[in-house]
Amino acid sequence: MFPIPFENQYVTLGEGFFARTRPTPVSGPVLIRFNHGLSEQMNLDMGDVALDQLAQWFSGNQVPEGAEPLSMAYAGHQFGFYTPQLGDGRAILLGEVVGQDGRNYEIQLKGSGRTVYSRNGDGRSPLGPVLREYLVSEAMYHLGVPTTRALAAVATGDAVYREEVLPGGVLTRVASSFVRVGTFEYHARHSGQEGVKKLADHVISRSFPELSESENPYLSLLETVIERQASLIAKWMQFGFIHGVMNTDNMSIVGETIDYGPCAFMDGFTVNRVFSSIDQQGRYAYDNQPGIALWNLTRFAECLVLIIDSEVNVAVEAVRPALEKFQTLYEKSWMAGMQAKCGFISDGQNIEPLQGLLIKQLLSLMHECSSDFTITFYELSRLGDQAGKRDQEFLRQFVSRQPVACDWLVKWRTALSTRGVVQKQRQSQMQSVNPLYIPRNHLIEEAIRSAEDHGDFSVFHELHEVLKTPFARQKGKQRYQSPPNPGQEVKQTFCGT
Ligand code: AMP
Ligand code: MG
Repeated sequence: MFPIPFENQYVTLGEGFFARTRPTPVSGPVLIRFNHGLSEQMNLDMGDVALDQLAQWFSGNQVPEGAEPLSMAYAGHQFGFYTPQLGDGRAILLGEVVGQDGRNYEIQLKGSGRTVYSRNGDGRSPLGPVLREYLVSEAMYHLGVPTTRALAAVATGDAVYREEVLPGGVLTRVASSFVRVGTFEYHARHSGQEGVKKLADHVISRSFPELSESENPYLSLLETVIERQASLIAKWMQFGFIHGVMNTDNMSIVGETIDYGPCAFMDGFTVNRVFSSIDQQGRYAYDNQPGIALWNLTRFAECLVLIIDSEVNVAVEAVRPALEKFQTLYEKSWMAGMQAKCGFISDGQNIEPLQGLLIKQLLSLMHECSSDFTITFYELSRLGDQAGKRDQEFLRQFVSRQPVACDWLVKWRTALSTRGVVQKQRQSQMQSVNPLYIPRNHLIEEAIRSAEDHGDFSVFHELHEVLKTPFARQKGKQRYQSPPNPGQEVKQTFCGT
């Protein structure tokens, strides 16, 4: 057996869906990190493979046996405007495997050289964005948010030319599917009904086989993608995450977070916070994310209209209720998550009006006080059923509104006391959803600076280790839980392309 037991499917879609592309070799690949846990899950046989060999494969210098490297064609609405031809300009799909869990894993190199879709780009990635995506995507996974994952990070030994000269890197990332809303848009524009049908059939058979039984599998596909995205965005929001570039080409059909560019987790909470330097209008601001997801899903629905019914009007009428459901699905998912964060028991159906009100009041107080998103919820989960000394740790997040925050705590305790769950059980349930460690911007920045400027990866490795168990307090890791002090604060993030 080959170390990577490829079972490639995307390549069977044939011409028009991709371009066969080999990675461009680099001069001195060095493996920075390999994700052995993920590798096992994927059924790869890497235990005895030498580090040098891993560096050769995951830099693109050698193509592993069984791989059929290709770059995928896609289009996309970027900041609301349609770009007819994007595609993998700096990514190459090596192929697919089926994991121990029976799931599909597609393996892609990112930063592995030019492809036919590179336009004016060099097909490369600086090391910084590689480390950033490794850290954030793995952190998301350990927080329980669906995401693409990081299998390997390699330093290439070559320079990458941006505004400055930077060391280069290649990230190997893994998704259950790399098909995006933009992939559907590309085929809808290029080959219409035939292309969309072929792609939809592929997606259904690969990712949602159960839908093939339904009365209208394409309508069911739309409904399923809407459900997945509503649940995904609701999860992001619970951790103060801002994706930053929710263009349709960066929205996955299987509902995984994909394309970590200028993304960021908020420290101090501001409801309309934007980090990305290129998002000047705040299109992808924190509180716009659910609305943008629906906008993107509407673009997806427009593609599926071509195959849902031979009569366009009938198809349009069929997709409308599916899209209209998004808001309810999102709110339900968001509220259930917020109830858990606040220690309220939820039956998933009825929302206690007082609890809903308290959640909204808390967020609005946090916004007014710029309370640290993560610490506020973490401290809340440590509070007892009765007022006590610990309350001060929570109230510290509301310096400018102490009396109102105190009042909120009283009401919160009243809402809790109607539930009849013992304190310890409530606290541990809350602590299982309110992390102490998130990939804070200033920590990511520090890891990148050490690596890029001094070739020192120790901060990267340590931060990654801490983020693997985000909910449990770890001895001696105090500095990874603290918000940045004013000098450390990162106010803007960049695409890094
Ligand atoms: P992104 O901002 O990562 O979503 O990328 C948007 C589009 O630009 C995609 O088609 C990418 O493949 C392409 N792209 C981004 N950076 C590069 C690069 N350095 N070289 C070639 N294409 C790129
Ligand atoms: Mg992208």
